[in-house]
Amino acid sequence: MAHATFTAEGQNMESFRLLSGHKIPAVGLGTWRSGSQATHAVVTALVEGGYRHIDTAWEYGDQKEVGQGIKRAMHAGLERRDLFVTSKLWCTELSPERVRPALQNTLKELQLEYLDLYLIHWPFRLREGASRPPKAGDVLDFDMEGVWREMEKLAKDNLVRNIGVCNFTVTKLNKLLGFAELIPSVCQMEMHPGWRNDTMLELCKKNHIHVTAYSPLGSQEGGRDLIHDQTVDRIAKKLNKTPGQVLVKWGIQRGTSVIPKSLNPDRIKENIKVFDWVIPEQDFQALNSIPDQKRVLDGEDLFVNKTEGPYRTVADLWDHED
Ligand code: NDP
Repeated sequence: MAHATFTAEGQNMESFRLLSGHKIPAVGLGTWRSGSQATHAVVTALVEGGYRHIDTAWEYGDQKEVGQGIKRAMHAGLERRDLFVTSKLWCTELSPERVRPALQNTLKELQLEYLDLYLIHWPFRLREGASRPPKAGDVLDFDMEGVWREMEKLAKDNLVRNIGVCNFTVTKLNKLLGFAELIPSVCQMEMHPGWRNDTMLELCKKNHIHVTAYSPLGSQEGGRDLIHDQTVDRIAKKLNKTPGQVLVKWGIQRGTSVIPKSLNPDRIKENIKVFDWVIPEQDFQALNSIPDQKRVLDGEDLFVNKTEGPYRTVADLWDHED
């Protein structure tokens, strides 16, 4: 259930309660591939759009720009405690001794004292300087328990308020739950009507782990064009909303927070105007029935080496669960 908790720019902003007791705003700004324009996008989102939740990662290479945007928004009057900032631990840092230095570097780039959420970006360790696609020896063993223990210490030391994971499978999440002293607050996964991933959503709900839906609009060019999907378009016209708004709202109605990325000020503001209306049940079910379910971000380019392994196929990455 989403709770209406605070008002930003005159609109009722919903949030979800995490296991830790903290709240995560239902809509956040994604910043992947935002580059030097991230500062402007973050300022627009926070100051004009009423966003309070920003999603970034060391790997996006834009943490400094995101940090500048947050700083400007705070100069404009926002308080740090009202913001929810997420970043992610990259694959080259997935060994216990590298976790804390990586977080410290992220805090420095963002010019922040703490993060609201720190996520394991992908459950695969890469050698520094790994190629895309990886060469033999680029994908290394990942000590999940050792890394998670270090994540837990970051939370205990209040450097991060919540810890979590991204791109996990049922197999991997169950393994983590087997030894975790601190259950992940959040699991961030690709989710949109073209890849609903009901199995992971159900497993997370069962364990009270909140899910954040990434690439909610089907990602960028080369992704899945849901903005022009017939069903999405029909429902948008019927509700007098835009396809982007319908896609964001669909995620919230499923109980997930949603992090659409945009660099366009009008679209940034449009994507968060989703709080004073609902998608009727029949239309919600139509979105739940869009055929051709397929991941956009399958990890192939990053982690699959067809001849040398250790992951020779996309199915190997996802533990043959899809
Ligand atoms: P999205 O699904 O958010 O789609 C972004 C694309 O949609 C951009 O091309 C954007 O263009 C366009 N767009 C935005 N709003 C609208 C609109 N209202 N109407 C039409 N087009 C629109 O893609 P992302 O893959 O970026 O996912 C969102 C975020 O999720 C990322 O930025 C990142 O923060 C996170 N993420 C996390 C991953 C992980 O492994 N944990 C993996 C991938 C993403 P324009 O900018 O021109 O508006």
